[in-house]
Amino acid sequence: MLTVGPHISIAKGFAAAACDAASIGANTFQFFTRNPRGGKAKALDAADLAAFADVRAEAGISCILAHAPYTLNPCSAKADTRGFALQTLADDLARMEQIMPGQLYNMHPGAHVGQGADVAIRMIADALNQVLASEQTTTLLLETMAGKGSEVGRTFEEIADIIERVELDGHVGVCLDTCHVWDGGYDVVGKLDDVLDEFDRIIGLSRLRAIHLNDSKNPRGAHKDRHEKLGEGYIGFEALSAVTQHPALCDLPFYLETPHDELQGYAGEIERLRATRNC
Ligand code: FE
Ligand code: FE
Ligand code: ZN
Repeated sequence: MLTVGPHISIAKGFAAAACDAASIGANTFQFFTRNPRGGKAKALDAADLAAFADVRAEAGISCILAHAPYTLNPCSAKADTRGFALQTLADDLARMEQIMPGQLYNMHPGAHVGQGADVAIRMIADALNQVLASEQTTTLLLETMAGKGSEVGRTFEEIADIIERVELDGHVGVCLDTCHVWDGGYDVVGKLDDVLDEFDRIIGLSRLRAIHLNDSKNPRGAHKDRHEKLGEGYIGFEALSAVTQHPALCDLPFYLETPHDELQGYAGEIERLRATRNC
């Protein structure tokens, strides 16, 4: 059974978000831990979390993916921005243990803002070494990036360099975003096997824990990061469906970050992915 779901708001609580997911045929979902631009997270509500567990059991939701605010930058040149990133990461990871233990927490590695990738990679690893703890059950994922601006994590090498410097690296994995790697230059349309071989060689496929399944508004190598609905962009539906069916990937959870105004828009994508999958 394909594990797939969209990004859903938790503004009305976790139980409501899980109900929303179930209502469109999803069996997982992604959510922002707090306002995507940062700020304080809403206090957790014990009654909501209990109801969330019930909805999950009923809807067959066995995994969820949290997404850190995308303004988070653990490799900023400014000490206060780095401090904010540390504080947010630590707080989010602590909350994940309460929301649902044993789940995934995804972050964008950061932007080096002119300091160079080498300096940034050390800063990111340093941040992870400060927030990861051996007793944590949550796995922190580094997302592959499109390489717009000074984003770190466009290449598998950069991601591997970060992980190599993390002491508790057993708590670290990778989330591959199909739009981002395509925009970053990897040919997931014509050479998916080669791209996965490269990932395996440089990072290790066992690190790959989740997929962001998005089409792209731009041709390969554009470094733009503009998501498109499945089948309406340069990657195309066939290639995206092939990603969900690849033997190395088919058991991973897939998350749709495609541009739909309404939740209902994802129902069609989920249905079509399930219908075309034969593994
Ligand atoms: Fe992301
Ligand atoms: Fe993504
Ligand atoms: Zn993106």
